[in-house]
Amino acid sequence: MRVLVVGGAGYIGSHVAHALRRRNHEVVIYDNLSTGHAALAQGFELIVGDISDSAEVSSALRRVDAVMHFAACAYVGESVANPRKYFQNNVVGGLALLNAVVDSKVRKFIFSSTCAVYGVPVRVPITEENPRLPVNPYGVSKLMFERALEAYEQAYGLRFVSFRYFNAAGADEDGKAGEDHNPETHLIPSAFEAIHGERPPLEIYGNDYPTQDGTCVRDYIHVSDLADAHVLGLEYLEQGHSAALNLGTGKGHSVRDVISTIERITGRAIPKRMAARRAGDPPELVADPSLAERTLHWKARRSFEEIVATAWNWAESRRALIR
Ligand code: UDP
Repeated sequence: MRVLVVGGAGYIGSHVAHALRRRNHEVVIYDNLSTGHAALAQGFELIVGDISDSAEVSSALRRVDAVMHFAACAYVGESVANPRKYFQNNVVGGLALLNAVVDSKVRKFIFSSTCAVYGVPVRVPITEENPRLPVNPYGVSKLMFERALEAYEQAYGLRFVSFRYFNAAGADEDGKAGEDHNPETHLIPSAFEAIHGERPPLEIYGNDYPTQDGTCVRDYIHVSDLADAHVLGLEYLEQGHSAALNLGTGKGHSVRDVISTIERITGRAIPKRMAARRAGDPPELVADPSLAERTLHWKARRSFEEIVATAWNWAESRRALIR
């Protein structure tokens, strides 16, 4: 299939572009490069454009069979401080893209959603049945888009897969793509920056949560496992169904666990200190990934150690390039 990968110069989108190519799909990347990097789109056709530019999107849509949408803002903390940015980009911009899609012949759509749509879950591990009650504007913006997809399926025959990612982490084993945000806020790359003295000591956001060691628990999934699921999602759409699926491993790691695994694997101490809770952070988010496993015949195969090791190798090779 020919696939328009919107946001394909970003962290997750670029991994998916490579995974699609490995399965012989044709990829066109569409990205405004606001947070993405042209280097991550290297080797692919890149259209530099904005999702709200309907004329540019429509012309790209004439050449493809399916769309994958990764172009969004994705920081919980920033969404609390600056919600209008999140509603503008993720909802207003996202709907402009979606409307261009339904005005075209394309009826297959894959959406990067998030476990943040669940808010503070009623039960952990989280199934797709958990009520969607987000507790931060980022989660709300993604839920609004999920709702639009559901309505558009009914009204316009759009078929979609909403993938609710847990914590995407790690880097491609071939070193072609990895995480590169500026400023970095995610836990694992932030810990690497602290190791190198590129930021003040890593702050542990809260140690009074109702979890085993008091720090937040998350389900970290290797970005290459996420990418594999997207390729299978595309094949699933060909069967004419829609779905909303959790993508996680089913295993939780506390912030303290993450820190000690990084220290063990890298052999380096992370300068760190305790800090207040970060607004909008639920205590524990761990997936029940069984619906995705059954629906797509998929499973997250890479371990947490591989996540840390590949992320470290990527970050070190980037540092060597910059130096
Ligand atoms: N976290 C932390 N210090 C940091 C960054 C993150 O303690 O400098 C915690 C954060 O509170 C959350 C977990 O690490 O519980 C993962 O956060 P991240 O920002 O990587 O992903 P999110 O869960 O927000 O998608």
